[in-house]
Amino acid sequence: MLLDLSGVMSEQHTELIQDVDIDMTEFSTGYGSFPILKKTPVSIRVTHVKEHRFQITGSGRVTFSVPCDRCLEPVETEIVLDFVKNVDLNVPDGEQADELDETNYIDGYTLDADKLIRGEILTGWPTKILCSEDCKGICNVCGQNLNQGTCNCEDTGLDPRMSVIRDVFKNFKEV
Ligand SMILES: [Zn+2]
Ligand SMILES: [Zn+2]
Repeated sequence: MLLDLSGVMSEQHTELIQDVDIDMTEFSTGYGSFPILKKTPVSIRVTHVKEHRFQITGSGRVTFSVPCDRCLEPVETEIVLDFVKNVDLNVPDGEQADELDETNYIDGYTLDADKLIRGEILTGWPTKILCSEDCKGICNVCGQNLNQGTCNCEDTGLDPRMSVIRDVFKNFKEV
């Protein structure tokens, strides 16, 4: 959704308040695509603080289905969006070195709310996602989910691709 900032930009001490629906049904990152299970609209408020200085706040919640880092079972992962950004649109592009990325969602009089929200989701994305703290993961030989039961593999720590070679050795021993 694109928000027209021309009104709030033309006059100081005004604000624009807008609930933005998240259109995405899944969220794609470099790590993969994650279905969105639940979402609230993100309420965005743009305040013209003084002379082209703006404060942008937003809040909302999005819940994704993300595979557990260890066992790959889907985990409901909620990301709470609650951000405050101070943007100075006086500073020409290029000189705003540190904040350049921060304002790539504003182009002229238009705020690209989807881009802003995407960036905030990425910022809030957890570095580790586990179905539970003591998830046992999967057997790296047969792929058995070790939270659901054990398997008969020896704990060799071998790469699953090695299991073929290991079976060859087993058969050899039995002869
Ligand atoms: Zn797990
Ligand atoms: Zn196994």
